[in-house]
Amino acid sequence: MTEKVVIIGSGPAGWTAAIYATRANLQPLVYEGAVIEENRLQGTLPLGQLNLTTEVENFPSWPFVDASVLEQFSRSALPADQFALLEGYYMGKHASGKRSAFGPEIMAYMRQQAVNFGTRIVTDDIVKVDFQRRPFVLTAREGQKVEALSVILAAGARANYLGLPSEDRYKNNGVSACAVCDGALPRFRNKPLVVVGGGDSAVEEGTYLSKFASTVYLVHRRDQLRASKIMQARALENPKITMKWNRTLDEVLGTDNNGVTGVRLKSTVDKQTETLDVSGVFLAIGHTPNTKFLDGQLKLDDKGYILWTKPARTNTSIEGVFAAGDVADSYYRQAVTAAGTGCMAALDAERWLAEHGHL
Ligand code: NAP
Repeated sequence: MTEKVVIIGSGPAGWTAAIYATRANLQPLVYEGAVIEENRLQGTLPLGQLNLTTEVENFPSWPFVDASVLEQFSRSALPADQFALLEGYYMGKHASGKRSAFGPEIMAYMRQQAVNFGTRIVTDDIVKVDFQRRPFVLTAREGQKVEALSVILAAGARANYLGLPSEDRYKNNGVSACAVCDGALPRFRNKPLVVVGGGDSAVEEGTYLSKFASTVYLVHRRDQLRASKIMQARALENPKITMKWNRTLDEVLGTDNNGVTGVRLKSTVDKQTETLDVSGVFLAIGHTPNTKFLDGQLKLDDKGYILWTKPARTNTSIEGVFAAGDVADSYYRQAVTAAGTGCMAALDAERWLAEHGHL
């Protein structure tokens, strides 16, 4: 069977595309990604980057609400197995008070909304594409091949690392690029930690980690944060966050037994170095789009993001292939813009299929 549209990716872009495509009767097939250690380590598990975050305060329609109401909402909206994945969010300190929805809640709702309209889902990665022939041929990690008349690429982006050998050595043993995934681990509790970066992610991660850590050193290579003003204020006023301006991470220090025990920082002003005793290092220095599996078959920009080839459209350099969300957007990179371009990609795919006599 040849699919009308295959969607690769399961963040806000992928599920919005799926919701629109199912409602247009395109019977989309979504490859949501594989649940494997390799994906966990590089931050490419299903449900995208929003699934790795805490409260989402800037996704429209989620004002603060009683936690118990969110629990009721989740119980009503989701089947029991999906609700079970969220249950931890309604226990302990999360059980009361008002809050926005958490990233994993929003992602579970988006996925369910797509399922409700009949979206079919494969929990695997597409690792190879052939866009030179029609229908296109996509190959999954498990070897399964699928033919598609059109494709929506929504594979997102993942967190960057600096590339230091010492950083690599202690990955999973004190070095992480996801505070929300790893920050609550015992090894980080009541210990000094380092966050590297100066954008919203660094500030958000630093603020989050300050709940567990004794001190958070925020290491930034300049003397001004890139983060939005409201997030900056939160970090700068936080007594548990100490700014380390004009410094880069020169080396992660540690032992095989204990993992990370410290860092060496280098001044960007006079190259002086200093060491800090810390138990963890969190990288928050930007992202890389997940485009390697495309193997150069589409035009990418100089940072590796897919190029949109028509103004205000999601078309790519291959007819019938559309791109949505962070995989094609190094500029806005917001959940809501990803959802918006996911909608656009589904509408663009539908019109393209109709124009080419496939509907
Ligand atoms: P970002 O805005 O690109 O910031 C990356 C930071 O890392 C910058 O401060 C940069 O320094 C630093 N950096 C990059 N490469 C480095 C290197 N090799 N060594 C040392 N430092 C390095 O990335 P982001 O913080 O992940 O944010 C990405 C997007 O997501 C933004 O649009 C942001 O607004 C959004 N976001 C929003 C929220 C929220 O609203 N809750 C939360 C997280 C992210 P320079 O400043 O010197 O370039």
